[in-house]
Amino acid sequence: MPEIRQLSKETIDRIAAGECIERPAAVVKELVENAIDAGAHAVTVEIREGGSAMLRVTDDGCGIAPDEVRCAFLPHATSKLTQAEDLSHILTLGFRGEALSSIAAVSKTEMITKRAEDAAATRYTVWGGAEQSLEEVGAPDGTTVIVRDLFYNTPARLKFLRTSMTEAAHIGSLMEMMALSHPEIAFQFLSGGQAKLMTNGSGSLRDVIYAVYGRSVTSELLPAEGEEGAVRISGFIAKPSVMRSNRQFENYFINGRYVKNAVISRAVEEGYSGRLMQRSYPFTCLVISIDPEEIDVNVHPAKMEVRFSDEQAVYRAVRAAVRRTLDQSVMIVPAEMDERPRRVTTAQERKEAYREAAEPFEKQYKSSLVKEEGSYGITPSGTPSLPARAEIREAEQLTFLSPEEKDRRRIIGQAFGTYWLCEYRGELLVIDQHAAHEKVLYERFMKQYAASEIISQPLRPAVIFTASSREEEVLAACGEAFTAFGFMIEPFGERTYKISAVPYNFGNIPAERLLREILDRAEFDLSKKELPAYVHAIATEACKAAVKGGDVLDPSEAETLIGELMTLDDPWHCPHGRPTVIRFTKQEFEKKFKRIV
Ligand code: ADP
Ligand code: MG
Repeated sequence: MPEIRQLSKETIDRIAAGECIERPAAVVKELVENAIDAGAHAVTVEIREGGSAMLRVTDDGCGIAPDEVRCAFLPHATSKLTQAEDLSHILTLGFRGEALSSIAAVSKTEMITKRAEDAAATRYTVWGGAEQSLEEVGAPDGTTVIVRDLFYNTPARLKFLRTSMTEAAHIGSLMEMMALSHPEIAFQFLSGGQAKLMTNGSGSLRDVIYAVYGRSVTSELLPAEGEEGAVRISGFIAKPSVMRSNRQFENYFINGRYVKNAVISRAVEEGYSGRLMQRSYPFTCLVISIDPEEIDVNVHPAKMEVRFSDEQAVYRAVRAAVRRTLDQSVMIVPAEMDERPRRVTTAQERKEAYREAAEPFEKQYKSSLVKEEGSYGITPSGTPSLPARAEIREAEQLTFLSPEEKDRRRIIGQAFGTYWLCEYRGELLVIDQHAAHEKVLYERFMKQYAASEIISQPLRPAVIFTASSREEEVLAACGEAFTAFGFMIEPFGERTYKISAVPYNFGNIPAERLLREILDRAEFDLSKKELPAYVHAIATEACKAAVKGGDVLDPSEAETLIGELMTLDDPWHCPHGRPTVIRFTKQEFEKKFKRIV
C-alpha cells in the first residue's frame, strides 16, 4: 500500500465539483440560482455548443463587493448562512457555498461583478481552480459569469457529455422551470445565437406558461387556490382535457424552487382521480409555499429533492386544492366537461369508415396525393408494380373470407365491452379488441413502410404545434422517422412547428394529440441514429394512441377486425408484446366439465 497523504487542494476541489456539477445544465442551474438570490429582475443565459464550449449568465442583481470576489470562489464560502442553525429556515436557493468553487475547478471561469454603490466592476478569472487575474474594469451593475471549456481538465466527465443538442435541451428544460418558478424575473435564453425562451418578468405565471407551453395549454388553465396549516397553494392546473402521457408536465414549485417529489406527484394525481384516462397525467404549475422550518432542502447536492416534516399535511393540502379547483370548474361551467374530443358517429358510418380503411391502399389516395402535394419524402420507389401488390392483398383477404374459412369462425359476442369471444377451429378465442386493433394498425403500417408506400393525409388547415425543449430535441433527431411515418412537420419559428400532413389511418385523433402522444411516450435512444428503430417506436405508440379512444364496434365491424388480425403472421401479440388473444381448446372445457379425464 502507498503511504496515506492528504489530497492537494486542486484534487479536493475537483472531487467536490463532481458532486453537484455533472453536466452543463447543472452549471446553469447554480449560476441562475445565484442570480435569483442576488435579487435580479432580468437574467440572460447564453450557451454555445450545448454549454460545454461556453455558457454565460448575466444578471442585474446586487453584485459582489470588490474585496469579496475572491472569497466567493473559495469552497464552502457563502453569504447566505452564518451558522448551522440557519439551515432550518432557508429562503435562498443556494446555501452550500460550493457552486462557484466547483465550477471554477472544472472550467475556465470568468466573473465580472459590480454593486450599484461601487464606481468600478471587478473582473476575476480562475482556470481549473487556479486564480489567473483580478482586476478593475468598467461594467454595468450586476454580475456576469462566463464559463468556458467545461470539464477540460476532467476528461472522464467530458466523456459522459451527450451531444450538444441533448445538453442544450437539458438547459432549455431547466430554463423553462426557472422561468415558471420566478414569473417576476425576465428570463432570456439563447442557444447558438438563437432565442429559445423569453419571459417578460411581469409576475404573471400565466404569461410564463404561455411562453413555455403555448396557447393550447394556456387556454385550458384553472387557477388553483388553497391553504392548510403551514402550506399555501396557488398557481394553475389544466383541465383534464389537456392530458399527457407522462409525469413531465406535473410541475410544482416549493418556495420558489423547482423540485421533484413523490408525495406531491401522488397528491396531484389523486386530486385528478376519476377525471383522467388510465395512464394519463395532468398538466400543472402549482406554486407551493411552506414555512421554511417545515421543510429540509439540504437533502441532495443538486437541491432537487426536499423533505417535509409533515408529509401528510402537504399531501392533503395539494390534493384538496386540485380537487376543489376541478370541482368548482364543473359547477361554474358544466358544459366544459364535454369539451373532451369525442367522435359522434353512427354505427353505419363507422362501419363504412372501417371498411374503407381496410381496403387495399393502392386503390386509394396514394398516387393523387404524391402528385398533388409534391414533396412528402415518401415516394414509391423501387416497389413491385401496383397491380401485383393489389392482387396479393386481395388474395390474402379472399383466403380468409372464403366461405369455408368463415364457417369455421363464429363470433359469439363481446364481454365487458372489450373482449370478443369467438369460436375458431375447435378453439374458443378471447380477443382483446384494443390489442387486436393496435396490432392490425401496426402491421398494416409496417407493411407499407417496408414497401416504401406510406400514405399520408394532408391537413387543411395545417395545425400549429408548440414544442417543449425535449420535444424539440426529439423532433430534431427523429425528423426523418416522422417523415417516413407520414407526418409532414416543419419548423415554424419560435418553438412552433407546422403539421401539414399526418399518417393516413391514424386520422381519427387530432394531429396534435397524436404527435404529443408519440413524443411523450415513445422511447427513443437518441444517441443511436437508427431510423428503423425510431419508426418502430413511433408506429407502436401511434397505434396505441389511435386505439385508445375505446370505440364501440358492432359485430360486423368486429368480424372485419378479427378477420384482418387472423391473416397476420403473428396474430397473437400486440406490438408491445402483450397478448391479443387468449385461446381455450375444446378439450380444456371438456376436462373442466369432467366429460373427459
Ligand atoms: P451559495 O450560493 O451556496 O452561497 P456559491 O458558491 O454559489 O454559494 O456563491 C458564493 C457566494 O457568492 C454567494 O453566497 C453570494 O454571496 C456570491 N454570489 C454568487 N453569485 C452571485 C451573483 N450572481 N450576484 C451576487 N452575488 C453572488
Ligand atoms: Mg449558489
